Amino acid sequence: MTEYLYMKSPDACYVKEFDAEVLESGEDYVILDKSAFYPEGGGQPTDTGYLKWNGGEARVVRVSKREGGRHYIEGDAPPAGTEVHGTIDWEHRYGRMRAHTSQHIISSVVWDRWHAKTVGNQLYENRARIDFHPLKLTEEDVKWIEEECNRRISQKIDVKIYELTREEAEEKAGVERCNMELLPKSVKKLRIVQVGDEICPCAGTHVKNTSEIGTLKIIKKENKGKMRTRITYELV
Ligand SMILES: [Zn+2]
Repeated sequence: MTEYLYMKSPDACYVKEFDAEVLESGEDYVILDKSAFYPEGGGQPTDTGYLKWNGGEARVVRVSKREGGRHYIEGDAPPAGTEVHGTIDWEHRYGRMRAHTSQHIISSVVWDRWHAKTVGNQLYENRARIDFHPLKLTEEDVKWIEEECNRRISQKIDVKIYELTREEAEEKAGVERCNMELLPKSVKKLRIVQVGDEICPCAGTHVKNTSEIGTLKIIKKENKGKMRTRITYELV
């Protein structure tokens, strides 16, 4: 089992370099005892970067939690037992941390006013695309969402990360808003991310304070089927 270093706290999401040991080595991958790389999932793309060790170096092109924490690499894989030094491509990751944190905010803004759920999201660097349902918006509504998001962002809110039992989370978090029914029943402890009043289970990476998000600018609104609206925005 790989220990993912960014899970612990908001500060831990800023770990850019780390030392680890290779637990398993395949033709084009390694599994590490710990890692600062974010594995693809939840609409957030995989981190990329480098592994270096005594006498070798490899590019990390993809990390998959579903495949047991495999770090897929280009180049020869170091054997099990090797001490490696990992470095993540920070610029890319940081842009996605900003996008991810802003997604919590826009999702709660839309939920608070229309009770529309976030039914899909894709995060990019400093940009995101979110699908809401059931929701139909006028141009005025879109403008309001943008303003309300920026009002909340400008409050310079500290992002909190902590653990709750499933029961506690069901009581405190928005079960419906956060799609908690989709979490496997086997998961008993949940990593909670709190941005202001918004409490949601989430395993992604976030900035420490909303002031790091910048200004949210909605660039597109699309109808994606019956009562499904897609909003695309960028952070400037
Ligand atoms: Zn999150």
